[in-house]
Amino acid sequence: MPAPKKRILFVIMDGLGDRACPELRGMTPLQYMRTPNLDWFVDHGQGGLMDPISPGIRPGSDTAHLAILGYDPGESYTGRGPLEAIGIGLDMQPGDIALRCNFATVDDSLEIIDRRAGRIREPETTELVESLEDMDIDGIECIVRESTEHRAVLLLRGEGLSSNITDADPGGDTHLLMCEGRDEESEFTAYVVNRFMEECYERLRNHPTNRKRSAAGLMPANILVPRGAGCYPHIEPFQEKYGITGACVAGMGMIKGVCKACGLDIYPLPDGCDGSLDSDLITKTQCALEALNEYDFVLMNIKAADIAGHNGNPKEKCDVIRDLDAVAGFIKERLPEDTVIVLTCDHCTPCILEDHSGDPVPVAIFTRDMVRDEASEFSETGCSKGSLGRIRGMDLLNICMDLANRTEKFGS
Ligand code: ZN
Ligand code: ZN
Repeated sequence: MPAPKKRILFVIMDGLGDRACPELRGMTPLQYMRTPNLDWFVDHGQGGLMDPISPGIRPGSDTAHLAILGYDPGESYTGRGPLEAIGIGLDMQPGDIALRCNFATVDDSLEIIDRRAGRIREPETTELVESLEDMDIDGIECIVRESTEHRAVLLLRGEGLSSNITDADPGGDTHLLMCEGRDEESEFTAYVVNRFMEECYERLRNHPTNRKRSAAGLMPANILVPRGAGCYPHIEPFQEKYGITGACVAGMGMIKGVCKACGLDIYPLPDGCDGSLDSDLITKTQCALEALNEYDFVLMNIKAADIAGHNGNPKEKCDVIRDLDAVAGFIKERLPEDTVIVLTCDHCTPCILEDHSGDPVPVAIFTRDMVRDEASEFSETGCSKGSLGRIRGMDLLNICMDLANRTEKFGS
């Protein structure tokens, strides 16, 4: 009798891995917290460490997710803007350029006061975006859509565009940058982006929503600051590459974009599963388990630990870990038969760095008939004792496809 073909569930706990935190007596949040349910999967399966891209390479969530889905980011990545655009359902076409934007707050001299405009979110961002409709700059159509929280996407459509431009977003700095072309061909696109920012400021600074925010003592979202320009990515569809169907369960537009660009379906989620720190994780997990009834492969992304890491707040990350352990418990109790389950992260977001690092992440793989190893704790050290050793993100799905009895023999 042929072995049953199993389904595969990836639980990607975004940015969960960490480094030694002085606030936690030199432990990582995962080492510090008791996590019986996360541990159960390592204990009954196999543990290891994973370099999401390759050792020492500091991944973005987008490139890491591409790699974890088995795509070489060096070949398939064209920037974060396009992935976010595809993720929020914009019909991106070859020739278009997409950029991610932050709603930000600038003063009269265009110095940035808050690059997230007080973390403004829906429905206010929707109201603001409405006022940015019908924008045409020198024959280039500028299409703006809101994304998660303070984020938005700008899609440029027209002749003669290039993605080889610098970011207008200065990151941690306060001085708004002018977008520049990296070559002669890109200067026009840079000009369009700079004109776009001016136009946004004109339309947003006296917008009723912003007046209300100012009156309430909140930061007005009076400009959109673009970054991460990219052209349409050409990626081999997931179903052709692996011969299985797949879905993505995620709140973040960018993660949905990566998955959609790879040909995964975006599984619909109820309100409240939005990828924020207070996202409803159990409902999301329920959706992921439901999706497994329909699809051979499901990737669930949970964003919260990454946010706590960027906030540089180990205690907050510990609180998130308590919720993540509840998620693992929920999955354990409803363990779907014939499923390969992976618990891992797309990268570490050490609190001490307030950003991603190139450190390897813990990974656990569980399925019912697999060989158990000595690893028994889900943490950076606990997983390092496991038999998976140190793998690359690009190998993860192949390992799971094998455990799921879905791989073709190489040779005879
Ligand atoms: Zn991430
Ligand atoms: Zn992050």
